[in-house]
Amino acid sequence: MNNPNLNIPVREPAQAGLDDTILPFEIGALDLRGRIVRLGPAVDSILSGHDYPLPVAKLLGEAIVLTVMLGSALKFEGRFILQTQSDGPVRMLVVDFTSPGKVRACARFDAARVAAAIAAGEAEPGQLLGRGHLAMTIDQGADMSRYQGLVPLEGKDLEHAAHEYFLRSEQIPTRVRLAVAEEFRGGENGARRRWRAGGILLQFLPKSADRARQADLDPGDAPPGAEPHSLPEDEAWVEGRSLVATVDDIELIDPDLSSERLAYRLFHERGVRVFRTAPVEAQCSCSRHGVESMLRSFTQQDRDDMVEDGKITVTCEFCSSTYVFAPSDIVPALS
Ligand SMILES: [Zn+2]
Repeated sequence: MNNPNLNIPVREPAQAGLDDTILPFEIGALDLRGRIVRLGPAVDSILSGHDYPLPVAKLLGEAIVLTVMLGSALKFEGRFILQTQSDGPVRMLVVDFTSPGKVRACARFDAARVAAAIAAGEAEPGQLLGRGHLAMTIDQGADMSRYQGLVPLEGKDLEHAAHEYFLRSEQIPTRVRLAVAEEFRGGENGARRRWRAGGILLQFLPKSADRARQADLDPGDAPPGAEPHSLPEDEAWVEGRSLVATVDDIELIDPDLSSERLAYRLFHERGVRVFRTAPVEAQCSCSRHGVESMLRSFTQQDRDDMVEDGKITVTCEFCSSTYVFAPSDIVPALS
């Protein structure tokens, strides 16, 4: 007899793609869990708003997808911040995700070096980043501890950094695919470019810890000449990561392929269960009040140095909103 309380999807997966959504899914038979993120207007409004050189915009788009996939796993109200700091033409990327679904992002780069990299055909994501590190910070708000994880950037892309992070810091076998592209659409005012982005994250989370064990990557303290310790990867994980490896960029950004249909296409033979989608939107958290408190925390000298034409002007690096204050507006807190 059917149990009406079991939430087993029996309908066909939706055909229409739904932009700016996160779709969690699970393949119970393989102990795999994951998320598919599909971004349209959210990523377009951030990237179009900045007007960065194309390869920088694409790189920031990848960072946005990765951040949304990781940040949406937070089980509490808080922020997830992904930040790179490296010696390549793109010095810094910051993506800030506030649960349940607000994201903002910006990049700092050396325009001359980016132009030179483009001219030399060396503007792939890993080349733009160079060497440095990627930090992931979970901030649960005032009075709560912050958690930060770090992973080195070694001239490779963000997918690689994410795999390394989960392998070294979390010991969770993980595969990530990220895709960003511009879509050209004709319109009354001529062709308009729109950014689209998407990604898939797959993790092996077996109920028994033993199954999650990974082969040691180097001999460790084994004596020279000893047989290298090797433990075969779990078959379920090998199957899962092989399936994710078949995903093309176009499948992650195609507006005519829904996230549900993609999950079904990849995993239907093993029985994939999808959960409720969650929305994402581009929204900055800056405010006049927030900028005012920041200015108030500065020293009088620092504030005096900021005065130009009798005003203090602060522009938000994420959304380019401009806040103008008269120096007398900023009354220092009583101490
Ligand atoms: Zn802002």
